[in-house]
Amino acid sequence: MSKHFIIIGGGIAGLATAISLKKLGHSVKVFESKPDILGLGAGLGLAANAMKALDYLDLAEELIPLGNMLSSLTIKDAHGIPIFQADTELVKNGTADNFSIHRKVLIKYLFDKLSTEDTEVSKKLVAVSQNDRQVEVTFSDGTQAVADYLIGCDGVGSVVRQTLLPKSTPQYAGYTCWRAITPNPNIDVQDGTEIWDQSGRFGFVPLRGNLIYWYVCINTTTENYATIKAYGIKELKSIFKDFYKEVPHIISNTADKDLIQSDILDIKPLKQFAFERILLLGDAAHATTPNMGQGACMAIEDVAVLIHELKLETDVISAFKKFERKRLKRTRSVTVKSKQVGIIAQLESPILCRIRNSFFRNLPQSFAKNQMEKLLNTNIFKA
Ligand SMILES: Cc1cc2nc3c(=O)[nH]c(=O)nc-3n(C[C@H](O)[C@H](O)[C@H](O)COP(=O)(O)OP(=O)(O)OC[C@H]3O[C@@H](n4cnc5c(N)ncnc54)[C@H](O)[C@@H]3O)c2cc1C
Repeated sequence: MSKHFIIIGGGIAGLATAISLKKLGHSVKVFESKPDILGLGAGLGLAANAMKALDYLDLAEELIPLGNMLSSLTIKDAHGIPIFQADTELVKNGTADNFSIHRKVLIKYLFDKLSTEDTEVSKKLVAVSQNDRQVEVTFSDGTQAVADYLIGCDGVGSVVRQTLLPKSTPQYAGYTCWRAITPNPNIDVQDGTEIWDQSGRFGFVPLRGNLIYWYVCINTTTENYATIKAYGIKELKSIFKDFYKEVPHIISNTADKDLIQSDILDIKPLKQFAFERILLLGDAAHATTPNMGQGACMAIEDVAVLIHELKLETDVISAFKKFERKRLKRTRSVTVKSKQVGIIAQLESPILCRIRNSFFRNLPQSFAKNQMEKLLNTNIFKA
């Protein structure tokens, strides 16, 4: 029977959930706090696990021509000498590969699959409540809405989550990040590259249209560090000036106005995602640091598992509970490992950096294969 769902947040999780619920015959309303759903955006890597989940949701085929397939991520030192290679060919099972896309292109692709009446912008959720018949939400403009069920897709700072679990506040990871997209200044870039050095971390990935998506992470003791937040191209170029020549070249090719700065946050893994008629999904449920490039991937897996459960189970509250059982362990593991990767990648001591690099260079391929199997080839629908 058709039910009405309110979805808070028009990001990747919210839009993909709305599209997929509609395909099951439900009605949806996505409420987004920003005035423009397309918003800001740099690049995004979607690993093979997310591509498989998108395929399950029937969203992969039309998306693939809008981005780039990638077969590996190589971690290098500042001289360009490889430290470690995560080669997805190692675990390729013929169904999917890693993918990079402009975030705005992905959001527009999802947004265009909904009707105008399915979404409303400039609607900031401030309060949420439920009883045994419905959920009710209140927005900052004083208006209210009701539905049978609510899915909280409102990101790391989720009001839905912090209403249900007031202690689940975002935590600062100890480093801040700048991202940008720039035209490719004639660099041969086929796959993802990340450079680890005591002065910071620099990554770059090709995007469709001969563009490069790049990002840097720099340690800062406190979040919202005003002096550092104000860094522009000049300062970033100076920090990365001794990196092999492509790096300063890419940075110099970028305009200050194209830089997006964000402190890196996650949340402590939760023990609960389902709260009767309310479900947390995506970053609202399990925001992770971006070190494994898995935040959006986990959100997309969430949508696939939720839809799978709703196909098997007509009682939505039971489907929410089954979703929770399948997602708690996997998302916790990604959040914990991603935090550990961040600590290792952001090391500042030259001695520890040398030990780290030597350790990773000597890791057997079987170790990398094993790790990638678990991440990219898990059957997410199994309990
Ligand atoms: C630097 C960086 C790089 C990343 N790189 C990758 C990557 O390569 N691959 C990957 O898989 N993941 C990556 N991620 C993680 C990824 O961006 C997130 O996991 C993903 O965007 C989560 O999607 P979401 O829809 O759950 O949340 P969000 O994208 O945060 O969307 C939440 C939406 O809710 C809205 N909202 C918030 N509060 C309210 C409110 N009160 N009322 C109404 N609306 C509200 C917001 O405006 C937003 O539109 C990266 C993250 C960062 C910070």
